[in-house]
Amino acid sequence: MEHLWSPWRYRYIVTPDRAEGCVLCRVQELSKEAENYVVYRGALNYVILNLFPYTSGHLMIVPYAHTASLAATDEATTAEMMALAKRAQTALEAEYHPDGFNIGMNLGRSAGAGIAEHLNLHVVPRWAGDANFVSIIGETRVLPEDLATTYEKLKKHFP
Ligand SMILES: [Zn+2]
Repeated sequence: MEHLWSPWRYRYIVTPDRAEGCVLCRVQELSKEAENYVVYRGALNYVILNLFPYTSGHLMIVPYAHTASLAATDEATTAEMMALAKRAQTALEAEYHPDGFNIGMNLGRSAGAGIAEHLNLHVVPRWAGDANFVSIIGETRVLPEDLATTYEKLKKHFP
């Protein structure tokens, strides 16, 4: 599926330090939060904007530990993932007033995981009609908001 408008994509592709290794491991080691759209750093997980959002406000909760398996992830980490998903829901409700949410994980490439080697929990706000005719017919999505704007809106909900 192609995006009609994704100006950040170019930088994402050309940034040299993302050229090798696990992207989700590399992001957590970088210090420039705003440039990498890290909204919050918890004890065991961080919260980041999805660089290719399904809808505006699409967040991911990512364990610091590099693992592909939910089953193998320790209890403290998964408990914090859920706590952060709840905070994300609260933040998104305050800023975007969605009609609903998809909150979940894609485990493995065959399940649609974009980054299969590193566990991540998606929090996607949904609106009635957001799976619009452009998406269905044209395999193309129109993104209504740039990531820097989304970042500014959500960052303040994670003090
Ligand atoms: Zn990783």
